[in-house]
Amino acid sequence: MSTNEAMIRIPEDARDILDKLCAAGFSAYVVGGCVRDSLSGIEPHDWDICTSAFPEEVKHVFSGEHTIDTGLKHGTLTVMRHHVPYEVTTFRTDGEYTDHRHPDGVTFVRDLHEDLSRRDFTVNSMAYHPKTGLSDPFGGQRDLQAGIIRCVGDAHTRFTEDALRIIRALRFASVFDFTIEEGTDAAIREFYPTLSMVAAERIWQEMQKLLCGKAVRRILMAYPEVITCMIPELKPTVGFDQRTPFHAYTVYEHIARSVEAVPAVPALRLTMLLHDSGKPESFTIDVHGIGHAHGHQAISKAKAEKVTERLRVDGKTRDTVLTLVEKHDILLTDERSLLLRRLRQMGETRLRQLIEVQRADALAKGPEAPEHVEKVYKERCQALDDLLLEQPCFSLKSLAVNGRDLMAAGIPASPKLGAILEALLADVMEGKLPNEKEALLKEAVQRSGM
Ligand code: ATP
Ligand code: MG
Repeated sequence: MSTNEAMIRIPEDARDILDKLCAAGFSAYVVGGCVRDSLSGIEPHDWDICTSAFPEEVKHVFSGEHTIDTGLKHGTLTVMRHHVPYEVTTFRTDGEYTDHRHPDGVTFVRDLHEDLSRRDFTVNSMAYHPKTGLSDPFGGQRDLQAGIIRCVGDAHTRFTEDALRIIRALRFASVFDFTIEEGTDAAIREFYPTLSMVAAERIWQEMQKLLCGKAVRRILMAYPEVITCMIPELKPTVGFDQRTPFHAYTVYEHIARSVEAVPAVPALRLTMLLHDSGKPESFTIDVHGIGHAHGHQAISKAKAEKVTERLRVDGKTRDTVLTLVEKHDILLTDERSLLLRRLRQMGETRLRQLIEVQRADALAKGPEAPEHVEKVYKERCQALDDLLLEQPCFSLKSLAVNGRDLMAAGIPASPKLGAILEALLADVMEGKLPNEKEALLKEAVQRSGM
């Protein structure tokens, strides 16, 4: 066994699944992402198993166990072990692809090599069994070491079969900071328009990972035509000169740099991808020849609404993205009263996200003064931490009186009561009133005109 293979440490439960299949006379291997990640020194997030057993045979081997029919049509049965799912998939070849999306049918086969050859990239086409070692017919290990994403077989054919592989190639290149092999690259540049045939939710699944990859800026910059094929709202930003001393880069490059500068969380990365998408449409040039993009935030938000709806982005992520895109350049300092107001407007989580967004935005404007940006960022975080330690009152919930208290004091239930509560909160936040029940009730009674 080579030293690299020693890196593949199969969990006991997965090993037991392999053993059961083998004991029943079938061959079985761990395959795909888990082999790739193990060989790269990354802990796999799941262990997929492939086998020569046909789906009914797999079911028979694991009869009486907790299994889930995940996709029996495609040959996949999930075997549960200690609440961990293991997908067991029959070796298969894919039939004809007539729609650039999915095969018209799959054929189950008994041969591992045939199964590996239907997989997308060499680094994803390795299988391993402790007794037989690594099966790597397409040079996956070599490409992994060299940091190369290369199609298995003819790239043109593989992308014509399934256009999703185009974005997957960009995804893996971004996540692992790999280069895309020349032939694969040429085929991507030829076939990317077929991406429009791929279901939006599959695009978003891959896109999230692409955006969170460590080489995202390089990939966004190298493939603007592919990115804007999936997100046409970004097309006008490519090559758009901002003509202002505040920006060293085109809108698209600024976007790409800001994506990389924000923490690798899908909602934040998508926010940065879209935050300035409305700039070209709102662009004006003043008498001094300086460019402005007044009101671009609202246009960017409208674009973000379309993009997130089309890509079927989940509600929580969508909500975060829309708010942050709209508010990405609202005034923020480390001044206490302003921070309190922002807490009132958006809550702690959003405000912390906004601080991250503004840091990334500032870092991506030009090569100068990153130290200054980091200093401002740290001061803001510190000011917010200090402020929150005081457990300040910035919501009606944390006000020392509520509607019931006011009614008990004789103020009738009416819209005015709500307005009084808001006014009390504002006074407390500005330090004009203490957050104490007695003082607040007294003020409320006065304001009610009773
Ligand atoms: P991840 O770490 O994100 O799970 P992965 O390589 O496991 O990466 P999956 O999408 O889980 O990716 O797919 C599992 C395996 O199935 C891949 O490693 C690859 O061998 C194969 N595969 C997935 N999608 C395709 C596709 N569109 N075309 C060909 N093979 C694919
Ligand atoms: Mg996987």
